[in-house]
Amino acid sequence: MSLTLSVDGERWRAHLLATATRFPGIVPVAKGNGYGFTLGRLARRAQWLAEHADETGAAIDLLSVGTYDELPEAASRFDGDLLVLTPWRPFGAALELDERTARRVIHTVSRPEDLTALLERDPAARFVLEQLTSMRRHGMTRRDLATAAEVLGTGRSGLRGVAMHLPLNTTSHLGEVNRLVNDVVASGLTTRTVFVSHLTHAEITTLAGSYPDFTVRPRIGTDLWLGDRGALAVRATVLDVHEVDRGDTFGYRGRSAPKHGHIVIVSGGTAHGIGLEAPTGDQSLKARAATLARGGLDAVGFVRSPFSIDGKQRLFAEPPHMQASMLFVPSGARVPRVGEEIEVRVRFTATDFDRVVIG
Ligand SMILES: *Cc1c(COP(=O)(O)O)cnc(C)c1O
Repeated sequence: MSLTLSVDGERWRAHLLATATRFPGIVPVAKGNGYGFTLGRLARRAQWLAEHADETGAAIDLLSVGTYDELPEAASRFDGDLLVLTPWRPFGAALELDERTARRVIHTVSRPEDLTALLERDPAARFVLEQLTSMRRHGMTRRDLATAAEVLGTGRSGLRGVAMHLPLNTTSHLGEVNRLVNDVVASGLTTRTVFVSHLTHAEITTLAGSYPDFTVRPRIGTDLWLGDRGALAVRATVLDVHEVDRGDTFGYRGRSAPKHGHIVIVSGGTAHGIGLEAPTGDQSLKARAATLARGGLDAVGFVRSPFSIDGKQRLFAEPPHMQASMLFVPSGARVPRVGEEIEVRVRFTATDFDRVVIG
């Protein structure tokens, strides 16, 4: 009935412990749809990781959430501090924190004027200063950092570190990171803690070696929760099967079957985040004519679905519905039976499962 994420619990938990052991300064990131697991489940699991500190050597005292709106869900399940990744602004959800949650929050501040405004509202606020990286999403320039250092002076403050959010898949982040750390030193800021995102283990080791007086705290989501894909399986259920002849109509739009086969109805639709995949193959007119001549189904407008039967990715008979999808299985291929489970390839960060079953 359901779109299900099945987790090999033992294997998954072993991966979580191994990751915490490998990155002792780790700050787990739980945000959005909780990487498919739900935010609440990840916050509880972060608490579990914190309770296994004697095994991993990682003191999980801090959990990252993405937004201020996500704080209540995490705060009720994780006992430590909560770092909000979205920068504080003098408006919106950031100003609506209750007193108890506010005391557990570490804000991200990415503009000098926000630092002043935050401290005016809450002189005891704790925060990290985000540096502008080649991502150019949020962050302070070298000059902004110096301004922030002036605002803070040399006395005690709520400053808990600087933060750098680096792009994925670049060759090496080290040149950029070295420059950013040098900017921190040059700014006169007193902190020696740097929160990093998307650095490899080797990069973190090199960084820590180059700056022995700095503490490096990697913020990790994907490689923690989804790092061992072999522990995860996504399955949909076959809900119905209808044999069709060429010309039979089906679906919301009354399309007609291009040839004999079966319409297979499976669980999983737009409400789960199942979307249309790219059409198969080359879509030039000539290529389409050639596939049509061969009886290719993409030429009649069927597009590839993320559902597979017997290891073969099947085509959508029409765009996914809200909670179910219609697939076309041409004659010749094995027809799955009602109740059978089939594999689905999803983007975990964009999928809401009906069930997460941790075995
Ligand atoms: C989402 C996010 C992370 C975690 O990213 P993953 O790729 O899931 O590890 C880290 N830092 C920032 C600022 C983020 O927004």
